[in-house]
Amino acid sequence: MSEYKMFIGSHVSMGGPDYFVGSVKEAISYNASTFMFYTGAPQNSFRVPLERCKIEEGKKLLLEHGFDLSKLVVHAPYILNMANKTKPDLFEVSKKNLINELIRTEAFGATMLVLHPGAHVGQGIEAGLENIVEALDEVFSKDGTKVKIALETMAGKGSELGANFDEINYIISHSKYPDRLGVCLDTCHISDEGLDLSKFDEILDLFDQKVGIDKILCVHVNDSKNPIGSHKDRHENIGYGHIGFDALCHVVHHPKLNNIPKILETPYFNEKPPYKKEIEMLLKETYEPDWRDNL
Ligand code: FE
Ligand code: FE
Ligand code: ZN
Repeated sequence: MSEYKMFIGSHVSMGGPDYFVGSVKEAISYNASTFMFYTGAPQNSFRVPLERCKIEEGKKLLLEHGFDLSKLVVHAPYILNMANKTKPDLFEVSKKNLINELIRTEAFGATMLVLHPGAHVGQGIEAGLENIVEALDEVFSKDGTKVKIALETMAGKGSELGANFDEINYIISHSKYPDRLGVCLDTCHISDEGLDLSKFDEILDLFDQKVGIDKILCVHVNDSKNPIGSHKDRHENIGYGHIGFDALCHVVHHPKLNNIPKILETPYFNEKPPYKKEIEMLLKETYEPDWRDNL
C-alpha cells in the first residue's frame, strides 16, 4: 500500500473573508491530502468575483503543504438542471452557470468539476438524457477550459438521472466531447440506488463493463442512513450507516482506485466536523466504535 499516495479529504467550506485560504486551512486541520469545495454556496449560483477569493495565497499555502492541484475537486451548485427543458429559463441559466463554474474551477488550478447530471422532472428518462447531452455539448463548445466534468452517480431520488451506470454511459457515449467527461462514484448514492457495497469488486467490474473504469475521476465516500435501494440520499458518518466501515475502507484502499481522490461528505455531529477522525480511521484501516462520542 505504500507505493502510492492516498488522496483523501472532505468537502470544506469557502466563505469570506478568507475564501480559498480558509478552505486550504480547513483541509489541513483534518490532516487531509486533498479536498473538495464549492466556489460559492452549494444551493445557488451567486458567486463572489474570483479577485476576492484569495486564490494565489491559497495555492501557495496548499503547495507548501504538499497538496496536488490535480487532485482537488470542485463541486458545481446543485440547482443547475440541464435535463429538463420545460422551464427554458432554467435550462439556459444552467448552461451559462456551468460555463462560469468551469472557468472558475480552472482559475483555482483544479482540473475536475463534479456535476449532478440533472432531473427530468416528468419529461422522461430518454428526453432528459438527451437534454443533458445537448447542454454539455454546448457548454464544452464555449467554455474554453480543459476542466473535466465528473458526472456524479445519483441516489435515484425523484426523477434524478445518472442513478445507474447505463444512464451515465448514455451521456458520455453520446457526447461530442467524451474526453471531457468522467464519473464521480458516490458510495451512499450507489447503495441507495440498489448496489451492495460489500461486493465492491463486482460493482467495479459492472462499472468497467458499462462505462470503463478509467472514467472514474473521483469517489465520494459516505455511509448511508438507509438500506440498499432506498433512493433517499441521506449521508451518514462512516461506520454508523448501512454500508459500514469495512466496505468503505475497502473502497478507499482499492488498488484499482489508487490516485483517485476520495472525498467525505458525511454530516457534522453535534455541530462538529467528523472528517479528521474519519480520515484517520480510514487511513489506519481500524475502526473505533462510538468514535462520534469523543469528537
Ligand atoms: Fe454531489
Ligand atoms: Fe456526493
Ligand atoms: Zn448525496
